[in-house]
Amino acid sequence: MTSNSRNAFPHNGSLVAAQVWPHSLLDEGIDAALDVLQHIAGANTICLVTANRGTPSYKAARWAPGHRERLGPRTVLGGYFSTPHPELYPPEALPPMKTPQNGLQEIDALAWLLEAAQARDLAVYAYLFDAYYYNPPEALSPAMATALSVDALGRPRLRPCYNNPRYRGFILGMIEDHVRSYEAAGLSGVYFQFEGFGASSPFQQLFYGQAVPACFCEHCAAQAAAKGWSAERARDGYLRAHELIHSANRDSQGGGDETALRPRDGYLVTLFRLLIRYPEILAWQSLWQETRGRMFREIYGVAKSLVPSQQVAFNIHHSHQMELFHRASFDYAEVREFADWIKPNVFHRVAGPRFARNVRALQRGLFRDWQAEQVRQLLYEAFGFGGPNNLDELTARGFPPEEFVYHETRRIVEAAGPGVPVCPGIDLEAPGSPSTEPDDVEASIEQAFRAGARGIVLSRFYDEWSLPTLEAVGRAVRRAVQP
Ligand SMILES: [Zn+2]
Repeated sequence: MTSNSRNAFPHNGSLVAAQVWPHSLLDEGIDAALDVLQHIAGANTICLVTANRGTPSYKAARWAPGHRERLGPRTVLGGYFSTPHPELYPPEALPPMKTPQNGLQEIDALAWLLEAAQARDLAVYAYLFDAYYYNPPEALSPAMATALSVDALGRPRLRPCYNNPRYRGFILGMIEDHVRSYEAAGLSGVYFQFEGFGASSPFQQLFYGQAVPACFCEHCAAQAAAKGWSAERARDGYLRAHELIHSANRDSQGGGDETALRPRDGYLVTLFRLLIRYPEILAWQSLWQETRGRMFREIYGVAKSLVPSQQVAFNIHHSHQMELFHRASFDYAEVREFADWIKPNVFHRVAGPRFARNVRALQRGLFRDWQAEQVRQLLYEAFGFGGPNNLDELTARGFPPEEFVYHETRRIVEAAGPGVPVCPGIDLEAPGSPSTEPDDVEASIEQAFRAGARGIVLSRFYDEWSLPTLEAVGRAVRRAVQP
């Protein structure tokens, strides 16, 4: 790969990328780890976790026989694994923080990898996160309190708001910092991931979590007011809906009589009545979606206007395939407006327990008038893929690759169109996953390419993959992209 072709997708062929934490390179040794990735798994690209996320669950113990033995801590503190350049951030932005993690604090892991990768003809992306909530206190920016979201009861909580100029400035500064500071060293681009499940949109908080929904901060309220939407009415509507869903759960778990608790007209009708009386409930979901859509476009625009040769790619969280409200919020046709390529996660095995958990959560609120198995079937039909016929089996086995990997990749390839390559994330032993056998790994990669993928991204992270899994990846990659 020459420096001229470095930024041209598809990297002289198909993209075969691996997501890697910098501490894996430190613990195993950079050359040993890159040898495994390049020569056993057939990877040609590394997406290195570079900023704004720690890991509470570094699983060195999962390392299987056959690899060089790894050392290292079980958790890694977040912050920047690259070198932050504070002068590239707007004055109001939260300041970037170097990681306090021993061993990584003293080095620039991105520069280190770029140097090693150049000699090997490997492309490197800076894997950047919107994920402050994964960072322990010692890796959080000072004055975080000024950027937090605010729930419907007026309480700030540890989740920054995109409408807050301090957080928005931080995210865009992080993009500017990486495209400008590492271009000369050979960086291919930025690979960004918005947070995924649960605490993301107001509807997800309402229907999947226990927390009181957010965000009702002054910045969100001002955005809404410009559209004629009242934050007071939205807050009131969310608190009423939250009470309807959670008081029923609380009482039924305490042995209350489900039939006696049921609203006179049932849960679905009563919830819709609330939506009709408080259109601000839906408006707040729209506001969240518009805000995030603006961030996607701003990230792309900032990177491309400052350093046009840098690629901008997005990791699209599993919940966009798995979960009703994220799936509804995100139209893949829009990626043509802000992405050079995308990586939607099509983790078919860990999708089993995740999908089952989502079904049970929806059944406790929105679909409480139905049985959980009926909700599972409804969502299979609505989403257009099939799977095991009951939730226990789904949890234990996950989805077959010819259903989940194929149908989801196909759907996304058709929506994104030929201009935006789709490189799905492949499930390699994701934590919580039913066991992923080598044959299954090969089948999932085959189904991704059969559905029109232009590459794959090995997921979640290098330190989770055993050697037999990586050998299976290598066999499938050689068949699929090096015929
Ligand atoms: Zn807000």
